Amino acid sequence: MTNTKEEVEALFNKLDADARKNGYFLNPDTPFTMELIEGLVENEKRFGHQACPCRLADGVKEEDLDIICPCDYRDADIENFGACYCALYVSKDIAEGKAQAEPLPDRRPTKRDERPQFQEQTGGAPDSKLSHPVWRCRVCGYLAARDEPPGVCPICKATKERFDRFM
Ligand code: SF4
Repeated sequence: MTNTKEEVEALFNKLDADARKNGYFLNPDTPFTMELIEGLVENEKRFGHQACPCRLADGVKEEDLDIICPCDYRDADIENFGACYCALYVSKDIAEGKAQAEPLPDRRPTKRDERPQFQEQTGGAPDSKLSHPVWRCRVCGYLAARDEPPGVCPICKATKERFDRFM
C-alpha cells in the first residue's frame, strides 16, 4: 500500500495547525517529521487508527488506545524530556533550536493490564451539586462538564474513548 505525498502533506498541515493553535510544537526537522507522519498514514490504512509510528501496535483499537497519536504519554514526556517518545512533538526550546531532542525511555507500561485504558477509573463519586458529570481527557487533561465526554477533545483531538469520568 503506498502513501500519496498529498496524504502525508495533508496530515502534516492538520497536525501543525492543531499544534500551533493549542500550544504544541512539531519537530522542526521537517524530513524526520514527515517520515513519522508517513508512519501514521500507513498505520491508519493498515489498522484504521493512527497508532504510534515508533511502537509495536496490536492493530486492535482497544489494545492500542493509549498509543493512538497523540498517545497518553506525550504531555508527560514533553514535560520531562522535551519530546514525545518518537520526537514528533517537542518542547518550545527544541522547536526554536535552543535544545536538542534526546532518546528517552518508553513510558508505556509493558504489562497490558497496567495500561491506562485497562485501569479502573479513579474519579471520585459523582458530585450531586454538579449539574453534569466531569470528564477528563487522558492525553492532555482537558476537562469537560457534560452528560457524555466530547466526541473529540478540542485541545489534542483524542477521541471519546480516551476520556475518564473525573467527578
Ligand atoms: S505523540 Fe506519542 S503516539 Fe504520537 S508520535 Fe509521539 S510518541 Fe508516538
